[in-house]
Amino acid sequence: MARYTGPVCRICRRQGLKLFLKGERCFGPKCAVERRRYPPGEHGQGRRKVSEYGLQLAEKQKVRSIYGVLERQFRKHFEEAERRPGMTGANLLSILERRFDNVVYRLGFASSRSQARQLVRHGHFSLSGKRTNIPSALVSEGDVITVRPRSSGNEYFGALKGEMSQKSVPRWLVLDAAELTGRVTQIPVREDIDTAVNEQLVVEYYSR
Ligand code: SF4
Repeated sequence: MARYTGPVCRICRRQGLKLFLKGERCFGPKCAVERRRYPPGEHGQGRRKVSEYGLQLAEKQKVRSIYGVLERQFRKHFEEAERRPGMTGANLLSILERRFDNVVYRLGFASSRSQARQLVRHGHFSLSGKRTNIPSALVSEGDVITVRPRSSGNEYFGALKGEMSQKSVPRWLVLDAAELTGRVTQIPVREDIDTAVNEQLVVEYYSR
């Protein structure tokens, strides 16, 4: 299962935005966007004119980076979004939000999506009673996400229990911090998703 392993702060600097890809570090003074507010590379501080295509490409790359999805998988999600009734852009975001690694992150079991992905890959969670280690699995309404009994006693989840009770989760999820369990109460719609992206540009990019 492939994933991006290059420097992630570079992606934020390219976008000129904090994409919060590194958990705690993103909130501290060591954040690369805070320290160097210009694109990476030799000509990063020069002026550049961006075409319409460039804008669409940048937005698509931004969404892909936020959710930590490689191009092939992202395109699959896009094709799925196109097949569904309604607005393709909103469908795409809904599908990305329903990814198992994203739900683990949204419930507060991890400080970043990449950490959530690793926890899922290591088999710490079950989805509606079944051990699931596939980050791209999509959750459905009524699904229950639980830390598996053999993992719930370990140091990481033990320390997390106390912190999680303070965390708020999106309205389409419910968290029981004491039981290390979350539930999907409804499929997320665009209004439920606070990711600051212009999904229409992504649709335009793939519709060229
Ligand atoms: Fe982006 Fe976080 Fe790196 Fe800052 S610390 S540049 S927000 S990944």
